[in-house]
Amino acid sequence: MEDIRANLKKINDQIKTAAESCGRSADDVLLVAVSKTRTPEEINTAIDAGVTDIGENKVQEIMDKYDDIKPVRWHMIGHLQTNKVKYIIDKVSMIHSVDSYKLAAEINRRAAGKGITMDILIQVNSAQEDSKFGITTDETEGLIKEILDNCENVRIRGLMCIAPYADDPEDIKIYFDQVKEQYDRFGRIEHPRLDFKYLSMGMSHDFQVAIEAGSNLVRVGSAIFGERDYSKL
Ligand SMILES: *Cc1c(COP(=O)(O)O)cnc(C)c1O
Repeated sequence: MEDIRANLKKINDQIKTAAESCGRSADDVLLVAVSKTRTPEEINTAIDAGVTDIGENKVQEIMDKYDDIKPVRWHMIGHLQTNKVKYIIDKVSMIHSVDSYKLAAEINRRAAGKGITMDILIQVNSAQEDSKFGITTDETEGLIKEILDNCENVRIRGLMCIAPYADDPEDIKIYFDQVKEQYDRFGRIEHPRLDFKYLSMGMSHDFQVAIEAGSNLVRVGSAIFGERDYSKL
């Protein structure tokens, strides 16, 4: 648990350095602590140490841990099946992984049922990796328009991207740059349900490069909590 506190301090320092290196402030960058596979005790330690936002990539994990976690904002960052939207619609504050109209429409339907508006990000797979979810950069505009036209209980807050792994994260900066370019372009659309505020890019091994490319929300897991052990699940 001491490690979690020390790691958080180190990451916050690194975020500050990366932000300041490109003339921005650390306050500009939201740290979402990715708590998948972690115990409530570990997660609550991070919250006590100042974490305000946590990210999970599985519906089941959100449901299993929800009642044991101190007050915090929850982010759904993993692939989401339409039939599971109903379980998290009143638990998470933002869904980062919207990559189809069908999913957005189901989020809209469930949000309307609860009388809320759900914040979402569009997941863009700018490297076009087959192994990752997300739409291609060509599809972003069409999906945004379709959602704005039809989903009254959904608000589009920005874009999300997972870059391919590279030993040297500088090699994949181009993919972050592409998504940043789209973020700036589509953020100019004037619409009551489009309010770009978040560019969700960067994980443990590439968050500094992502911030330099313009990210203002980083999703960091193992650098805070240590390597994940999936066998414990
Ligand atoms: C697991 C995960 C992360 C965090 O990964 P780390 O390498 O542990 O920082 C970020 N984003 C998504 C979508 C993830 O599933």
